[in-house]
Amino acid sequence: MGNFWDELALYLSYLQALGVKAVPRKKAFERFLKLDLSPPPKSLAEIAAEIKDCTSCNLHRTRHHIVLGEGPEEARLMFIGEAPGREEDLEGRPFVGRAGQLLDQMLNSIGIRRAEVYITNVVKCRPPGNRNPEPAEIEACLPYLTKQIKVIRPRIICTLGLIAAQTVLATTKPLNRLRGKIHQKEGIKVVVTYHPAFLLRYSSYKPLAVEDLKLLKKLYKEILNSG
Ligand code: SF4
Repeated sequence: MGNFWDELALYLSYLQALGVKAVPRKKAFERFLKLDLSPPPKSLAEIAAEIKDCTSCNLHRTRHHIVLGEGPEEARLMFIGEAPGREEDLEGRPFVGRAGQLLDQMLNSIGIRRAEVYITNVVKCRPPGNRNPEPAEIEACLPYLTKQIKVIRPRIICTLGLIAAQTVLATTKPLNRLRGKIHQKEGIKVVVTYHPAFLLRYSSYKPLAVEDLKLLKKLYKEILNSG
C-alpha cells in the first residue's frame, strides 16, 4: 500500500474511469476511509515519525511546532480539542495555555489525573490568529487522528468544543444537541462538552460543563471497574 494521498488519488482515478464526473469531497473521503485496508500504525512513535514534516495543508506555513498529542498509549480516555493555540504551537504540547489550565482543573474536579489520559486536537498545527480550522485543513489532518485512535483504542472519547464534536461524530448538529448524552462511534463511547477556551469567555456555560463532567466521571468509573 502507498501513502494515504496516493491511495486517495488512485481511488478517485478509479471513479473517473467508471465515468463519475464529480464526487462531493466529504463523501469521497468517507468512502475512501471505509476502503482503507492499510494496516494501522503500531505505535504513536510511528505516527510521530510520519507527521514530522507534514505539509498536507496550508497550516504548515505558519506553525512553529506540530502538536501531535500527549499521554499514555494505553489511555482509556482520550480528549480531542480543535487545534493548537499560540502557547501550544510554541511549546509543541497540547492544552498548555490558559485553556489547558482550565482543562487540568476540570480533570481534577472529577478525580482524573492528566497523566492518565491522552490529549490531542483535530488538527495538529495552529491556525493563524487561533481562527477555526477550515474544512480542507480538517480533512487533510484527519488521517492522523484516525491513526491515533486506532493505536490508543480508547474506551471513551471526550470532545472539547463544536468542531471536535462535529468531526468525531460526523454530524452538523449544534453542540447543545450533542452534549448531555453518550454517543457510540466505532465501539467507542463519546461524550461531548465545551472547549475550555469557550468556557473562559462564556463562564455562564460552566454549570453545563459540570454536568458533562459528571457524566464523564460516571462513565469512566464504570469502564475502570469493568477492567
Ligand atoms: S494541520 Fe495536519 S495536515 Fe495540516 S500541515 Fe499540520 S499536520 Fe499536516
